[in-house]
Amino acid sequence: MQHVVVAECRDGKLRRVSLEAIAAARQCMADGDTLAVLLLAGGAEDAAEATHLACRGPDEVIVIDHPILARYTPEAFAAALLAAAEALPMAPSAWWLGHTAIGRDLAPRLAARLGAGQVSDAIGVATGADGRVRFTRALHAGKALEQRALLPGDPWVVTVRPNNFPPAAERAGPAAPIRSAAFNPPPPIVRVRDVVRRVSTAVDLTEARVIVAGGRGVKHADGFAPLAKLASLLGGAVGASRGACDAGYCDYALQIGQTGKTVTPDLYIACGISGAVQHLAGMSRSRVIVAINKDPDAPIFSVADYGIVGDLFEIVPLLINELIST
Ligand code: FAD
Repeated sequence: MQHVVVAECRDGKLRRVSLEAIAAARQCMADGDTLAVLLLAGGAEDAAEATHLACRGPDEVIVIDHPILARYTPEAFAAALLAAAEALPMAPSAWWLGHTAIGRDLAPRLAARLGAGQVSDAIGVATGADGRVRFTRALHAGKALEQRALLPGDPWVVTVRPNNFPPAAERAGPAAPIRSAAFNPPPPIVRVRDVVRRVSTAVDLTEARVIVAGGRGVKHADGFAPLAKLASLLGGAVGASRGACDAGYCDYALQIGQTGKTVTPDLYIACGISGAVQHLAGMSRSRVIVAINKDPDAPIFSVADYGIVGDLFEIVPLLINELIST
């Protein structure tokens, strides 16, 4: 069986979720299965990331480097992947993508073009006693888990949630071969003229290992400044509840929850967030949750590993001072 991982770059850097997708694929590969990584590159900087992939355990890395791939359009990306797949000795049976903005958009398109089954946002993968691969997904705002198996024989396309699989580690021994695939892009239906980033953060929210999130309790836009300072000291990113976004304290790009981003960091620090079910839907699978809230009955404490009842404007500076002095 041929597995294919679609590797994604952002700002010339390989996304960590691509390495996690390699690890997820490896978890369910049987003897004789092969793994190829397809890297879509929009220039030399992206293409150079192939060397990082080659030492993480694939059998080969195929690079499709074309200027049209510098900016995401679903038609060009899907066509590039299908062209690269033709360069493989065997038609792929399993496609693995990160559950990123691009992965979410591309996977169903790819599945439709291939006549394949699709599973979105897998947080676990295992092979059952019957040899069928089963994917675990979170449902109902994370309150239930389902296992989904696809019919044997059919190809499938799966997206994996960032931060849910350990990234494939570097392996000793010779790196996998890297080769290029030819690609003649289809006539463009859409031309992206500009990409406007409303929020620029050093760490991508969905891949952040640490998130410091603020809610309506931060009271005003400036209230996010200590949270940003704490996040930066911890090498993390700033997130927000919808309450904070609706109040205009921060951009909607930071929103975490049912209608925002889904995150699974190692550490989630919720500051002045009540813990509505729609917020929990996006963060309750974080590994360690710390809640800072003035109200001891706030629902966020029901999911928190550590709870601090107090004023965030006193607690957050204490944490910052502690980190600076150590
Ligand atoms: P509040 O509920 O107002 O809570 C503020 C908290 O701050 C309180 O608990 C208070 O005790 C505490 N506080 C106040 N001052 C301080 C202080 N100085 N120090 C410490 N604590 C303090 N919400 C999301 O977050 N994400 C979503 O994706 C989302 N999607 C939704 C989708 C739908 C269809 C609907 C209906 C709602 C959605 N919501 C979502 C909104 C959600 O229901 C809540 O309204 C929202 O999460 C509340 O935000 P909040 O906790 O910041 O504000």
